[in-house]
Amino acid sequence: MSYIRCQVCGQRASIRMRQHRLNYCKDHFLEWMLKHTDSTIQKYRMFGRNTRVLVAISGGKDSLALWDILWRLGYHADGFYIDLGIDEGLDYSSQSRQFAEQFATSRNLALTVIDFKKEYGESIPTLAARTQRGKGKPCSICGMVKRHLMNQAAEQGGYSVVATGHNLDDEAAVLFSNMLGWNQTQLARQAPALSGRDGMAGKVKPLFRCYERETAAYAFLQRIAYIETECPFSAGSTSISYKHLLNQMEDRSPGTKMRFVMNYLKAKEDGFFHIENTNGQDEGLHPCPVCGQATSNPDMCVFCRTIGGTPPDKAYR
Ligand code: SF4
Ligand code: ZN
Ligand code: ZN
Repeated sequence: MSYIRCQVCGQRASIRMRQHRLNYCKDHFLEWMLKHTDSTIQKYRMFGRNTRVLVAISGGKDSLALWDILWRLGYHADGFYIDLGIDEGLDYSSQSRQFAEQFATSRNLALTVIDFKKEYGESIPTLAARTQRGKGKPCSICGMVKRHLMNQAAEQGGYSVVATGHNLDDEAAVLFSNMLGWNQTQLARQAPALSGRDGMAGKVKPLFRCYERETAAYAFLQRIAYIETECPFSAGSTSISYKHLLNQMEDRSPGTKMRFVMNYLKAKEDGFFHIENTNGQDEGLHPCPVCGQATSNPDMCVFCRTIGGTPPDKAYR
């Protein structure tokens, strides 16, 4: 009987990666994922062996696969999980928190957990419903809160860089969306590594050259338990429909998503887009008078304004 063989040992292959023209058995695939991620970290100068890295953990396969890989590679990587209080019906937050805590305990790793409702008095869906007067999904507020708390945790814990589990499919979908709208600001900012500055940790995506099916295969073969259900608010999102479209193109022409993202980065580097590569360094930033994080708003940052922060001049009256 003929079957596809691992190109290293000749055993039956567990995964065929047409886009990379690679076939591996379980052991050689797991080994390849470590080498591939480490080469991304080195190539894009994301962090070094002695850097303290804070990994944003959602309880899903990508963030836990990333944490596992960094741990196996010997990097100093601690986890950070935000309980968003998204529990109506599906218990999404409480379940994902359990997976995050279980993973950290199983490997004896440090995990900081912020319970948003306990800290700030309301869950993300309630905060969004109040501030958006019940209109739309809570995703933009949720994203802003996650960015803010992650920066805060990095600064308070002395971490110079925050690592997220974004994979190639995520990056291709965001790029597709930004290109459809010719969103120059976002196009200029989209990068696998953004350096930090005062009050803002650096941001890196060590899995951005891994397809989603590769991170899923890694989590499965490494027996990582993770939350398989998506956040209930992600249903019907445009990024999911863009991923479907890109997958159709990928099926017809393996490597399409990789070429799309990598050629974009190359074109940006060559100055093709005539957009300034800000590397995340925005002009006109100053510290928020309430929390101290960098903001371009004249009074306080969006986070403080949204949760009802009080500017110092009012606080002392
Ligand atoms: Fe937050 Fe929206 Fe993501 Fe759910 S889908 S975790 S609400 S950003
Ligand atoms: Zn093999
Ligand atoms: Zn603030």
